[in-house]
Amino acid sequence: MTAELSGSTALVTGGTSGIGRATAVALAGLGAHVVLSGRDAGRGDEVVSAIRAAGGKADFVAAELTDAASARSLADRARELGGHVDVLVNNAGIFPTGPTADLSEADFDRVYATNVKVPFFLVAELAPEMAARGQGAIVNVSTVVALRGMAGMALYGSSKAAVELMTKAWAAEFGPSGVRVNAVSPGPTRTGGTAAFGEGLDELATAGPAGRVAAPEEIASAIAFLVTGGSSFVQGAVLPVDGGRLAV
Ligand code: NAP
Repeated sequence: MTAELSGSTALVTGGTSGIGRATAVALAGLGAHVVLSGRDAGRGDEVVSAIRAAGGKADFVAAELTDAASARSLADRARELGGHVDVLVNNAGIFPTGPTADLSEADFDRVYATNVKVPFFLVAELAPEMAARGQGAIVNVSTVVALRGMAGMALYGSSKAAVELMTKAWAAEFGPSGVRVNAVSPGPTRTGGTAAFGEGLDELATAGPAGRVAAPEEIASAIAFLVTGGSSFVQGAVLPVDGGRLAV
């Protein structure tokens, strides 16, 4: 049986850690040639080796994603490696939290550059080409705090609220050309990035019906669903993958 994503190329940003790493592994397992980006070449090479050792196809692109130019140059590298890009997972993100008065203008600009500007310009680069081929899938990674007003989350949550609106607008813009654009909204997930939260992560998780923190693979499997045929009629959706947190 042919794996569902055989012959396709998937670009996963932030594929060196956590949810992005698990997504890269999952999509490679479905047969995609995965191009994963990150800043840490050591971790990138480790993910590529793990995927290749399992019989998959992957390449790492070192990319500090800060602006439109860096997004364009990553898209160029992905095209060079894959011929064209069929699947884009906008996963790379940063999540500084804390009192509004403690966050600087530089923090604000960094969060909006990484979480909003770069996904915007990656989609600007790659979605029109998907539309010209009549197919493609894009998944943006949001968060439950895009919808819930939580103290200390104004900056991060608002950046992801922008991502959720862009998801819907892009579904309207590119969906008629065969490109499905969706988002996942993860709850607290155990990753390198959330290690610093310590027990605070578990405390956040107790508020949801599942009552526990997610493994990155549980978010990756939802992303895999959104880029494969089982979700063929799902467009412009923000799928909560949060142990039920947004439901209660
Ligand atoms: P993580 O473990 O901190 O990994 C973040 C990834 O993004 C790394 O691969 C990192 O690359 C990359 N990255 C960050 N800033 C970058 C930049 N400026 N340029 C290039 N690459 C950059 O994060 P995670 O916890 O898996 O989170 C992944 C996504 O899920 C984020 O968008 C986050 O907001 C969202 N999310 C996470 C949770 C959670 O509880 N973990 C919950 C909801 C939503 P390098 O390390 O190689 O530099």
